[in-house]
Amino acid sequence: MNLVHRMHSSLAFKAFLLIGMAALVASFVVVFLSARLEQSDRQAYAQAQGLALANASAAALTPALFSNDSDVVEQTLKRLSDQNGVLRLRVMDPTGLVIFPANRRNTADRGTDFSRAIHAGKTSIRVENNTLYSAVPLFENGRLRAVVGHSYDLSLNQAGFWALVVRNIWRGLILLGVAVPAGLLVFIRLLSPLGALNKAAEQAAAGDLSVRLDVTRCDELGRLSSNFNTMLDRLKSNFDRTRWLAYGDSLTRLSNKTAFNERLRKLVRLERPPGALLLIDLDGFKRFNDAYGQDEGDRILTIIAQRLRKIINAHAPKFAAASGNIRPLLSRLSGNEFAMLIPGARSAPEIQNLANAILTDIAAPIDLSGHSASLSARIGIALYPHDAGDARNLLTSVNFAIDEAKKNGGGTWCFFEPSMSQKAIRRMTLHNELRQAMRENEFIVHYQPKIDVREGTIAGCEALVRWQQSSGKLVGPGDFIEAAEESGLICEIGDFVLEESCLAAARWAKEGYDCGVAVNVSALQFASNDFTQVVFRALDKAGLPPSKLELELTESVAMTNPERMLEQIGPLREKGVRFAIDDFGTGHSSLAYLTRLPFDVFKIDKSFVQSMTEDKHARVIVQTVLAMAESLGYRTVAEGVETREHFAFLQLHCCDYVQGYYFAKPMFEADLVSMLAAEKASLARDDIEAFAKAV
Ligand code: C2E
Ligand code: MG
Ligand code: MG
Repeated sequence: MNLVHRMHSSLAFKAFLLIGMAALVASFVVVFLSARLEQSDRQAYAQAQGLALANASAAALTPALFSNDSDVVEQTLKRLSDQNGVLRLRVMDPTGLVIFPANRRNTADRGTDFSRAIHAGKTSIRVENNTLYSAVPLFENGRLRAVVGHSYDLSLNQAGFWALVVRNIWRGLILLGVAVPAGLLVFIRLLSPLGALNKAAEQAAAGDLSVRLDVTRCDELGRLSSNFNTMLDRLKSNFDRTRWLAYGDSLTRLSNKTAFNERLRKLVRLERPPGALLLIDLDGFKRFNDAYGQDEGDRILTIIAQRLRKIINAHAPKFAAASGNIRPLLSRLSGNEFAMLIPGARSAPEIQNLANAILTDIAAPIDLSGHSASLSARIGIALYPHDAGDARNLLTSVNFAIDEAKKNGGGTWCFFEPSMSQKAIRRMTLHNELRQAMRENEFIVHYQPKIDVREGTIAGCEALVRWQQSSGKLVGPGDFIEAAEESGLICEIGDFVLEESCLAAARWAKEGYDCGVAVNVSALQFASNDFTQVVFRALDKAGLPPSKLELELTESVAMTNPERMLEQIGPLREKGVRFAIDDFGTGHSSLAYLTRLPFDVFKIDKSFVQSMTEDKHARVIVQTVLAMAESLGYRTVAEGVETREHFAFLQLHCCDYVQGYYFAKPMFEADLVSMLAAEKASLARDDIEAFAKAV
């Protein structure tokens, strides 16, 4: 079917049909013409024969006629009449009366030929019904003596027309046999460039634009081929340009993420040579961009790209043999992220050398207009097919590795390890479980009292979230706060704790307990635009005076964007909400800057408090912070007070409040209320005793 279709759509087949039909018609014409010619030849021959016979008969009769020898004439006439083809032979006198043969004597025979012969005085002939009628006049001494009438059967030895056609068929067959192949040959030779043109067009359609036609002819097909070449040239240059726009990074002239992903998919397959993928992330590039402007940022990226290209060129020969000469790939994936794909790289020391060379070259100072900048980078490394057998998993692995490198700080590289993905899977599971816990209201709030050092009474408490799982297990924030921050769920959890704490504090106030509440605020919560409104809403809903609420921010939250921080806490402080810096001393913020921010309370981190007894430096830090806070007018809270010695030291150095297991662990609200009630009762008792003593 397919073959039939192909034949039908083939130009040569159509030409074959056309030439074949033309040759067939020509053959028919030739055969018929040949038959017709042969027929007329044969007729002419028969006529000539008939005429010759008539003349010969006349010549044979003449002597006997002239000598009036009737017997001889009769005998000769009889002999001549018996000749093949002779239908009739008579001798007439000049008046047209038959004188011989004797049996027809005196019958008149003055036909047309006789008359014409008499008049013309020479042999006359006439052909009628395939018979040649002739009349030969015989003269003796210029006087007409007799006329010999002769009729001859022309159909004798004549073949019929169709028999002649059959006889000439060979001519038609020869014509067919010669004309068809010759015609086809000429046609094929004439259109031979069409085959090449068609093949080239097919190749071009399949995407190979490098194909060109060899043009040697100067006819229409030659011109068509030359135009085809020009068209392909244009198409290729347009295609190259479009390809560059789609696959190139215009800033660094490296390939972009799309090109990288395509190449990665092709190269990272189990059957391809093994290799390594290095993901390179520039540390703090955004800082440079912000500080020096986007133009200088672009310059930095261009210079880094050049350095990376040099490194890859220098190291590529080492991996060429193992990669089967597959070229390595360097791409810019996003703003400050580059990727290097090195087929053939599988030895860890070689890859480490490469990674170290990258880090060293990136760290080399960059001359910008008027100053010099120096960057560092971190590199995640994953090997294929060792770490992943396909592009997608390889990218996931290398991202795990770079995350780990980030944790290790700047200027480092890190190879992927399977435990990283296990950790990530655990984290993903935890994200889902936390979401579920939020839906099922499994979060609860515990409260840890803060003790007024001078009075020895409960001055307030800190709200600390807990996850009460359906199994009854109570999970502390250390096990889920980080995951909640990563998943963004911390905002919902934080809002819940804030609302819950305000409601609880309002209840305590209603019951007559003067106990404020401190609530931890995460960076994400604080960054949200409606943070201030959320706090006001929680206070309003609970009917809690703002002065009963303290918000704890860590140093890093306070320092990330000081301007924004002022905007956020300004209106709240105006209403009386207090702000504390949590875990003071653990961050790396500028002390001078931090102390100028509008906070009310420093919460000394428990790590200092707990190491005070053995570590002299910790003691000095706590002492210094307390002294500084006092002179700057801040209140101080020491966390993690676990022993009598801790408390004694803090008391000695005028710490305002203490919080720790020495006094109470975080507890359910009901327990805190019982504590508050017991304290109130004991205070009342003391008052009564003091009153009694005074009286
Ligand atoms: P933090 O705000 O510094 O809270 C103090 C932590 O120290 C609490 O741990 C508390 O139980 C613990 N602690 C108090 N006294 C002692 C002591 O004497 N010895 C020891 N070893 N630990 C003591 P917890 O409840 O596990 O909370 C850990 C951290 O989780 C908190 O540190 C806070 O940063 C975060 N967190 C807790 N609840 C929330 C919350 O609702 N929102 C946010 N964003 N973070 C929260
Ligand atoms: Mg806290
Ligand atoms: Mg703390």
